[in-house]
Amino acid sequence: MKTSLAIPVTTIAESRLAKTDFSNLVFGKTISDHMFVADYKNGEWTGLRIEPYAPLSLNPSNATLHYGQSIFEGLKAYKNEEGEVLVFRPDANWKRLNESAERMCMPHLPEEIFMEGMSQLLDLDRGWVPTAKGASLYVRPFMFATDDYIGVKPSDTYKFIIFTCPVGNYYSKPVSVKVETEFTRANPGGTGAAKTAGNYAASLYPALQAQRAGYDQLLWTDGQSHSKIEESGTMNVMFKINGTIITAPLSSGTILKGITRNSVLQLARDWNHPVEERFLTVGELEAALVNGTIEEAFGTGTAATIAHIERIHVNGKDYTLPSKSPEAFSNKVLAELDGIKYGKISDPHEWIIKI
Ligand code: PMP
Repeated sequence: MKTSLAIPVTTIAESRLAKTDFSNLVFGKTISDHMFVADYKNGEWTGLRIEPYAPLSLNPSNATLHYGQSIFEGLKAYKNEEGEVLVFRPDANWKRLNESAERMCMPHLPEEIFMEGMSQLLDLDRGWVPTAKGASLYVRPFMFATDDYIGVKPSDTYKFIIFTCPVGNYYSKPVSVKVETEFTRANPGGTGAAKTAGNYAASLYPALQAQRAGYDQLLWTDGQSHSKIEESGTMNVMFKINGTIITAPLSSGTILKGITRNSVLQLARDWNHPVEERFLTVGELEAALVNGTIEEAFGTGTAATIAHIERIHVNGKDYTLPSKSPEAFSNKVLAELDGIKYGKISDPHEWIIKI
């Protein structure tokens, strides 16, 4: 990628790369050597730099710690057989970051800072992009308030950071989910469509209850009637019923605009596969489970790409879905996305950026 922004680099004294066990990566625990940092002050982004990944120094009155003005993104970089680094749809993450920023009264981040900061960081730490099957480098851009002030108001200053983590396969096994009808993730007018810290904090307690009851994740329903399926923990969710892929629409403002969701829908449309962006009701889901018209259910998200759902708990009962057949839509779409991400097949929508 062409670089035009001059970003000063301070390299790490001793790389941790040689000491890292790539055969035993736990998601999010291993962090690469460097990070990109930019500071927002006096209405502009300044101090762009790449430096060793290290602790930050914050005052106890830091605004984020109290009121959660914090947003983040998640995307992945892959290595192709030639050893080149390929990033999947970073422009879509940049757009979504700015949509979250708008909702959370945070400053717009110019595309050049996001793309150049990321590209130059990935170029420096390209040795951290794993080569094993299903493995990748998870990229975590985030922005948070840095005012030292505990009055409730939008901060005047912010930090934007990107760091990266080598990761293996996220969900190696099919997942079980529980339809949640008591707790709520998001309501119209709230922050559900923003990728902001508080949404995740609020989801921990209900998700823990579900995990204690033996499920991997929740299927969230709408906050008003709890009768419409919205999304899952950190995934959008799709159902194949009577041959049609059904997934919740984005119009309610309560659902995260998943980039994997968008990619899967695009491929389905390319293949003339019937798709409906509409709410599936809990009643419809239950009926499809009882009468066997449900063929597939799966989550879509950057971490897992496609997570096959094998068990769904609805209204006090557990239902097991048909096991994943090799011809399943979810298998086909996963193979296509993996092919594009690892540079093995053509990329008709120009989703890949080469570093
Ligand atoms: N919903 C939520 C709540 C998420 O956190 C994520 C992960 N970013 C997704 C859906 C999937 O989004 P994407 O495909 O962009 O990773």
